Amino acid sequence: MSEQQTQTEVVLAVLDAIAGRIEAEKKHLTDLDSAIGDADHGANLHRGFQKALETTEGMAEEEPAQVVKTVGTTLISEVGGAAGPLYGGSVMSASTELQDGITAESSIAFAEAYLAKLQDRGDARIGDKTMVDALVPAVHTYKKSIEQDDLPPLTALAKAVDAAERGVDFTVGIRASKGRASYLGWRSVGHRDPGATSTLFMLEELLDVAAKHLDGEIDRDATSPTIPDETPEDE
Ligand code: ADP
Ligand code: MG
Repeated sequence: MSEQQTQTEVVLAVLDAIAGRIEAEKKHLTDLDSAIGDADHGANLHRGFQKALETTEGMAEEEPAQVVKTVGTTLISEVGGAAGPLYGGSVMSASTELQDGITAESSIAFAEAYLAKLQDRGDARIGDKTMVDALVPAVHTYKKSIEQDDLPPLTALAKAVDAAERGVDFTVGIRASKGRASYLGWRSVGHRDPGATSTLFMLEELLDVAAKHLDGEIDRDATSPTIPDETPEDE
């Protein structure tokens, strides 16, 4: 099997794992969204990822970037709500970073492009109680772990998942100032953000599949907490 086919196989395995996790967590995500939104986040994502499984069927011979792009365009058209264009548009846009294949460098570029597009579109920062609260620490931790701390990508990804998890926990105690949850004002405090939670689930599945396919062990000693280097802005 060529290197390209192997990478595409991994991309399809990640998609399959995420789609399965979203299916398993559909009710959980919808329950979170019913507390501070309109109770559709689980159903929205489930519909999108099931469709993405269909649209990528038979793409095993295609380039990995093309498969990722197809996932993005499918999510845009199928998910709807706030999350559809945010998840789908960011995946689609960032897919170009993978056009020369998936490496440590291109995976960092993908993560940064994904975050940049998402913030460009949604205009949310850390502390707004959105998926950005999980994503910013994850992306910064991943990049720093590889570029500054010289850790293997798999260890960097494990650290990024830890950082995302703390970001999700952080959303509980803060007030939403973007998206539907912001309509609740202070009543949004005390609830976990659905989009941050689904972002964490996706990263956990990515790590799980990467750990199965990448050589090398996760250096658990290196997975210590990293404080996000962006602080909430004053209003
Ligand atoms: P909708 O709010 O339209 O019903 P979903 O329920 O599918 O869409 O998704 C809600 C999630 O979208 C929120 O939990 C939050 O994480 C995310 N979200 C909403 N607005 C923004 C935004 N402007 N930037 C980033 N994420 C956002
Ligand atoms: Mg909703």
